[in-house]
Amino acid sequence: MVLDNFFIMAPFSLEEFLFTPLSSLPGFTSKTKSLLIDLVGNKVIDLLYHFPTKALRRQYFSSIYDLIRVAPTLEDMGHVIVSGKILSPPYRSRWKGPVRIPLGDETGKVELIFFSSPLPYLQKRFLPGMSLLVSGKCHIHKGKIHISHPDKVGSPEELPKWSTIDPIYPLKIGIPNWVVQKAIKELLLKLPEVPEWLDSTCMQLEGWPSWKRALHIVHYLEIVSEQEYEKAYTRLAYDEILAQQLSLQLLRKYHSRKKGRSFEKDISIQREVENLLPFSLTSSQKKVLQEISNDMANEDRMIRLLQGDVGSGKTIVAFLSLLQAIKAEAQAVFLIPTETLSYQHYEKLLPFTQKLNISMALLTGSLKKKEKKMLLSKIEEGSISLVVGTHALLEEDVVFKDLGFIVIDEQHRFGVAQRLSLLEKGRQADMLVMTATPIPRTLQLTMYGDMEVSFLYEKPQNRKPIVTRILPISRIEEIVEALKRLLDVKQKIYWVCPIIEESEALDLTAAEKRFLNLKEIFKDRVRLLHGRLKNEEKQEVMRSFKEGSTDILVSTTVIEVGMDVPEATLMVIEHAERFGLAQLHQLRGRVGRSDLASSCLLLYGEPLSVGARHRLQALKNTDNGFLLAEEDLKIRGGGTLLGTIQSGKNTFKVADLFLHSSLLKNAQKEAKLIVERELFFRHQRVSALRLLLSFFYGEESSTYLLSG
Ligand code: ADP
Ligand code: MG
Repeated sequence: MVLDNFFIMAPFSLEEFLFTPLSSLPGFTSKTKSLLIDLVGNKVIDLLYHFPTKALRRQYFSSIYDLIRVAPTLEDMGHVIVSGKILSPPYRSRWKGPVRIPLGDETGKVELIFFSSPLPYLQKRFLPGMSLLVSGKCHIHKGKIHISHPDKVGSPEELPKWSTIDPIYPLKIGIPNWVVQKAIKELLLKLPEVPEWLDSTCMQLEGWPSWKRALHIVHYLEIVSEQEYEKAYTRLAYDEILAQQLSLQLLRKYHSRKKGRSFEKDISIQREVENLLPFSLTSSQKKVLQEISNDMANEDRMIRLLQGDVGSGKTIVAFLSLLQAIKAEAQAVFLIPTETLSYQHYEKLLPFTQKLNISMALLTGSLKKKEKKMLLSKIEEGSISLVVGTHALLEEDVVFKDLGFIVIDEQHRFGVAQRLSLLEKGRQADMLVMTATPIPRTLQLTMYGDMEVSFLYEKPQNRKPIVTRILPISRIEEIVEALKRLLDVKQKIYWVCPIIEESEALDLTAAEKRFLNLKEIFKDRVRLLHGRLKNEEKQEVMRSFKEGSTDILVSTTVIEVGMDVPEATLMVIEHAERFGLAQLHQLRGRVGRSDLASSCLLLYGEPLSVGARHRLQALKNTDNGFLLAEEDLKIRGGGTLLGTIQSGKNTFKVADLFLHSSLLKNAQKEAKLIVERELFFRHQRVSALRLLLSFFYGEESSTYLLSG
């Protein structure tokens, strides 16, 4: 359905509106739409859940004199709106300098500065005597007031229509802020009424707005006080936490209804693999293996969470566990969130499966049709024992002969419906889900409900601690020298650049810029990896970094999860102050994966805020994820809402586990109640709850969940 028709048609269903593909959004080119989909996801609902990280406020001045008076006290480059007449034609004061346009009223004069527009164009557009309304960054240069790069120009009558506050969204190269803003605004204005899924008494008590109004508020369509904003945000966070808790409870309920099967304990095959390993297992790994093995051997169905810091060696534990099922002639799957990672896991396991004579296959979305068909029939007839793959595994046409064991890596990347659909493909299959997100102990119980949890507390013994240093980005030259020394001894380097926000594009070193700049020095030894590369390209770049001639990998945060290149010994993170603690910790975990000494450089842009300095310092002080998680909780306990929205989130899209931990308990209680007494709830509320679940876990989730 095309949204255009959609809007004229009435009545239409809310679900249809929310799950309309963004590709049918009217008023945008298909290029823009594909970028938008890349950024937020496929559906209208995904776009509505793409929240701004902050707001840009513009101050209106009714006369130029007022502006001049206040200018020295404006924060650096404050955004202002002012009007005036063009006093004389646009000109350049020196060759190749910026174009200037004098603007004034009876009370004073300012200059508009344009850096990149051609003079003839500006001369045609801006004629002396024209009245203008402009918005831009104001600063003082040699005693004169400049408004550079006006981001909006119009006529004074337009003033009432101009917003004095604009949301600033997380962006990607190629898609400007105004596009995201426009798309979201149009959709929000057309959003139909939504049934309420929250308990009305609870909402009244907390003073929470409806879902629709809350969205209007967080996207700054409705400007409210800070407290009201916080309430709106908290409501949306509660929604998400409730959905997560509901899904946990439903998973449990579904799971416990079915009996499991017993895979006989047989350690011979595990021993065989252990003998092939170039290292010996840590005692943590051995203990966890025991726990899993016992679960598998008994009659109950296993659903166990394995929590272990980055680099703690979860993969091998999962592999050794699934062998127990394969030995009993069942099939196993290893579900992995990205194609690059699934490829990496596949390659890593291949030497073992070959020696053990186990048939393993890789199933991803980029498999050719013919190959896929062949593979699917092999899986169905049971001639393949282990399938490693991505979301492609979840598709309906993937049928197993006898799936008995499921591993889900980086579990927070998959929704409950996805887990259930895999379980449905199995025959009383046992399930192991893994996560590297360190959750403070105090929150664990609520977070995971009553799932069994195993921990890998220690890291492999050969590891040297990672030395972490905090440096201003201005010391780049020294850093380049350090890179040269590392390359001389054949070590490899990750260089991570931050996400780009258009409004700050000027002062940000985009990954592409940094790449070109390092390439000048290091030539072909540098490659660039980012989310918009095709999968094959990504794999090719990764392989070249792993095994080939690439020694420096410049990338956006796509490498965050699971990358494993032991020769990499230096992690450089640019604008580290923009990342959250958890994310920085994950990134740092990419190095220190061998017996070589490793280090991590946290480069910050000045000035560094107190909060950011605290975060970076905490990271420097320890590389233990659990300690960091506790520290994060402490630091952020007193933090502001905005501060945390900017720092990275792992498990949730909206909620912040630390900031909103108090919501967790209530959500857990409510979810239990709903699942236990579902039938007692009015049908209306149940269907509204189903809608909520589908926001976070996809439309298909509603087919599994709640009396539907
Ligand atoms: P994660 O828990 O982050 O998924 P991986 O499973 O990718 O970690 O393991 C990280 C690296 O540590 C891999 O190269 C793996 O082969 C290695 N490794 C795993 N267990 C041990 C061990 N006991 N001793 C030494 N190296 C190990
Ligand atoms: Mg892993």
